[in-house]
Amino acid sequence: MNLTGSLKTKVVIIGGGPAGLTAAIYAARALLEPIVIEGYFAGGQLTITTDVENYPGFAQPVQGPKLVSDMREQALRYGARFITQDVDSIDFSSRPFLLKTESSTIEAQSLIIATGAKAKMLGLDSETRLIGRGVSTCATCDGFFYKNKKVIVVGGGDAALEEASFLTRFADQVTIVHRRDTFRASKIMVSRAQANAKIKFAMDTVVEEILDRGQGVVSGIMLKNVKTGVQEERDCDGVFIAIGHEPNSKLFDGKLDLDPQGYIMTSAMDAKTSTAVEGVFACGDVQDPIYRQAVTAAASGCMAAIDAQHYLEYGSASSSSKRGPATESKSLLGSILGWLGKWRSPL
Ligand code: NDP
Repeated sequence: MNLTGSLKTKVVIIGGGPAGLTAAIYAARALLEPIVIEGYFAGGQLTITTDVENYPGFAQPVQGPKLVSDMREQALRYGARFITQDVDSIDFSSRPFLLKTESSTIEAQSLIIATGAKAKMLGLDSETRLIGRGVSTCATCDGFFYKNKKVIVVGGGDAALEEASFLTRFADQVTIVHRRDTFRASKIMVSRAQANAKIKFAMDTVVEEILDRGQGVVSGIMLKNVKTGVQEERDCDGVFIAIGHEPNSKLFDGKLDLDPQGYIMTSAMDAKTSTAVEGVFACGDVQDPIYRQAVTAAASGCMAAIDAQHYLEYGSASSSSKRGPATESKSLLGSILGWLGKWRSPL
């Protein structure tokens, strides 16, 4: 059920992927009554992933949409509430923070941002149609499916060269397609790729079309040399797009500290997930240009919920400051009350 109207809560979580949902599970179990604003297109990048084989706890592959919908159900079970709308505005200067969606206004004592990132795409219709059917944006996730196959990696940055090297563990042949004649990637990555006999290069080349030849899965690619204009059709089983990622952080531009690529900068204050604004935490791919895995996003969601909980309880998210005298006297008081409760209770 979509929450509407004027609402108040201890924590609002923005984003319904693995980071946001894990934050919701932890926050709900800490009785913070989280409201998750999951967006109109909830679920994040897992919703466009088929078999997930690297999320711990699943001996058999789990479908991305199933994994994320189970996380959502788990959060619901412990009391998280959901708004399936986008955030229209956030007032970071008011206390509590004030958020607006199409049909709700929410006052929140703390915020957890888990809006994720999206892989940049080439913009071809065939690419959109064949995503999860041979088109992938994550070699770590999908490389295993290309044992003894031929794959193309598009891009000339560190990610493309790293993905290409990784894919040679499985594939027989990996061709890097790059639009220029020099790489953006670091020299060491380029040398490593050049020394790998399984890696071939198509420089000054762009992808014109990804082909399925009526089979519904990738079977080839149409390339064009930008200098000669010559087109070439090649057979391949997979196309990995590695032309960069874009964090979903536009809403926070000018309000939180972002790095030059737009990732939210964390560890600004007293905890790993804290941002430049006290009481605002960020987790998952919107603050992670490096690991970008479902499991690391989930783990950082857990951290953000714990940091938010400490902030709400102690006015600081730091684990060292929560061990201060106030905490110790609180826990001593808690033990005495607990002991008295037991003593009074017939059970
Ligand atoms: P980058 O922005 O560094 O590189 C993107 C690449 O994709 C560029 O070569 C660019 O071409 C190409 N590209 C962009 N748009 C298009 C397009 N529309 N069509 C064709 N090609 C396109 O992104 P990465 O994801 O590679 O890296 C992001 C950051 O992460 C970097 O700082 C990188 O160093 C870091 N990283 C580090 C790794 C490591 O140290 N092991 C591994 C992976 C990433 P052009 O060069 O012409 O602009």
